[in-house]
Amino acid sequence: MTTIATTNPATGEAERTFDAMTDEEVDRRIARAAEAFASYRTTGFAQRAEWMHAAAGILDAERGRIGAMLTTEMGKTLKAAEAEAAKCAAACRFYADHAAGFLADRRPADAKEVGADDAYVRYEPLGPVLAVMPWNFPLWQVVRFAAPGLMAGNVGLLKHASNVPQTALFLEDLFRRAGFPDGVFQTLLIGSSAVERVLRDPRVKAATLTGSEPAGRSVASIAGDEVKPTVLELGGSDPFVVMPSADIGAAARTAAESRCLNNGQSCISAKRFIVDAACADEFERLFVEHMRAQKVGDPMEESTDVGPLVSERGRADVEELVADAVDKGAQVLCGGERPGGPGWYYPPTVLSGVTPEMRMYHEEVFGPVASLFRVGGIEEAIGLANATGFGLGANAWTRDDAERERFVRELDAGQVFVNGKTTSYPQLPFGGTKRSGYGRELSEEGARAFCNAKTVWVG
Ligand code: NDP
Repeated sequence: MTTIATTNPATGEAERTFDAMTDEEVDRRIARAAEAFASYRTTGFAQRAEWMHAAAGILDAERGRIGAMLTTEMGKTLKAAEAEAAKCAAACRFYADHAAGFLADRRPADAKEVGADDAYVRYEPLGPVLAVMPWNFPLWQVVRFAAPGLMAGNVGLLKHASNVPQTALFLEDLFRRAGFPDGVFQTLLIGSSAVERVLRDPRVKAATLTGSEPAGRSVASIAGDEVKPTVLELGGSDPFVVMPSADIGAAARTAAESRCLNNGQSCISAKRFIVDAACADEFERLFVEHMRAQKVGDPMEESTDVGPLVSERGRADVEELVADAVDKGAQVLCGGERPGGPGWYYPPTVLSGVTPEMRMYHEEVFGPVASLFRVGGIEEAIGLANATGFGLGANAWTRDDAERERFVRELDAGQVFVNGKTTSYPQLPFGGTKRSGYGRELSEEGARAFCNAKTVWVG
């Protein structure tokens, strides 16, 4: 039986517990979603945009309160939580302004060739979409689906992670207060074992999941059995390659920022740092300095860079991966020891000498722990960067044009960031290759993800 509760990671104390919804309540909500879709799908883009702008306004106006709620539920720093609310507001505005263009009827270049007076593609919404979402960016992951999804005319059913129930309820309230009709966006307070029943309901037409690989595999196989489309955004172990021509100072600073993003719990944090031997000493020195300089502490404090990990289990998982690597010969360049006292804190940590015998070489570390590798040139760097089952993002640092082109062409990932760190932007598609998932969110692709691209031929 899943506990649906807010437990503050900075103290380890349970603050609020919620009862899971009964099957009957879930059924009522699915029925409401189906009913809402019947009329919501006929609303125009201008009306939806007005509501979406109102949602953005609420996110901006209530940023402080929202930030405190996120920090209390999952431990990210208050400044990061407030920035997340602002990013969500911007994404709502982006889709409010651009969805009509992204989803306008599309005519083929050579329409006459199909023997019709007119022929075009119309993007129609699918209906109620189940969104299974994680706790790490508890607002952003949901808005990333909901802003394009609702603008396209779909309706949302959110099954959020069990440790962020207040954020889950806030999101339902947000879209209701913004003016969206009753039933257009609802939260289901349920544990993961109740997902299958929802997914098999014929009124639910599709699913999107952001989270771990086992969760993704389970949802995708049930959806596959029901022949329902899915988008999966799973884990990542992004490489961060540094070549001698790069601005090594900027690379080292950005590397530490990326690894410690969200207290080290981001799918698109760089996790494996692959450095050409010719610049490895300098990079290592600066990178370790920046990792050591990150201030770990109370996430509510303005000066804190790294707050606690999300849960006792989350910290234990990180510790097990570090212990396994150290037992098998990895060296700890900084960090590696949890501090005493309450809260699930773990310090920024750098390991070198990580080898394929160690779990960390293959698995994603969901905490501020970096693996540092030295390589002899670009060939070896690309080989090591791609030697992972994941393919979410990849970072390459170089000022050499030919090297840049090789990285762009050969890094097997959903996104390649050159001289920067992987970041999601509403303007650009977001998603992975290999075991990081499939489908794309954001940009035009995200708007069309849950649409029937209906071919219309008029003779
Ligand atoms: P989980 O996969 O455990 O949880 C994500 C969501 O899936 C939660 O709502 C959870 O519910 C639900 N869930 C878990 N198991 C199942 C199941 N078998 N069937 C249906 N639903 C299920 O991941 P975490 O929340 O722990 O997030 C960390 C993981 O997610 C990392 O691997 C990370 O890389 C990945 N992730 C990927 C992102 C991306 O965009 N690609 C972004 C963020 C995280 P409940 O809480 O009730 O268990």
